[in-house]
Amino acid sequence: MEDKFVFYYSAMKGGKTTRIFQKIHDLEENGQSVIVIKPLIDTKGDNQIINRKNEKRVVDILLGKNDSLFSSKFIKQIWYFNHILVDEAQFLQPNQVEELWEINKRTKIPVTCFGLKTNFKGEIFAGASRLFALADEIIELDSNSLCSCGNFAKFNARKVDGVFVMEGDEIKIDGKNEKVEYIPLCGSCFFKEVYSRGRKNEF
Ligand SMILES: [Zn+2]
Repeated sequence: MEDKFVFYYSAMKGGKTTRIFQKIHDLEENGQSVIVIKPLIDTKGDNQIINRKNEKRVVDILLGKNDSLFSSKFIKQIWYFNHILVDEAQFLQPNQVEELWEINKRTKIPVTCFGLKTNFKGEIFAGASRLFALADEIIELDSNSLCSCGNFAKFNARKVDGVFVMEGDEIKIDGKNEKVEYIPLCGSCFFKEVYSRGRKNEF
């Protein structure tokens, strides 16, 4: 069963990039050729994936929001490979997830996606939601990501200028006039510090 459509997810800073490099290494060691796809988002503008050891992997397809994997330039490119790997898969559009799924089911080229489940508000990303619905296998990565209380982190809270926020665009990176940080939190701390912040206890 090597032709599966698989979604690995974790919180931010959960060791996802390390696992991506491991996966690519394992596949290539076994003579597989891997095409790396990443949704084009407004972060770093990078056409490469970099891990903590500063190893780099070039992204073969940077997929814009309105791009279709069925366009001939992408299909021709994909055809040369025998494994598709997607980083930051939560940022795929739902129809792009469906395209990957269709490619996987028609051609039997395995697809492995890595991404996050929830955004800074604790809501599921649209791309992740479609992946949860369609993937043959969904695997939560053992998180290396710890909350400051010591529990494992499952949420990616956003801090703007040092304050946790529940409002704002889904994708936001450091701006000119404000400092944006993402803080891994466990469920209890996310509830206390972010979700219920400033709300009175009804119980
Ligand atoms: Zn905590």
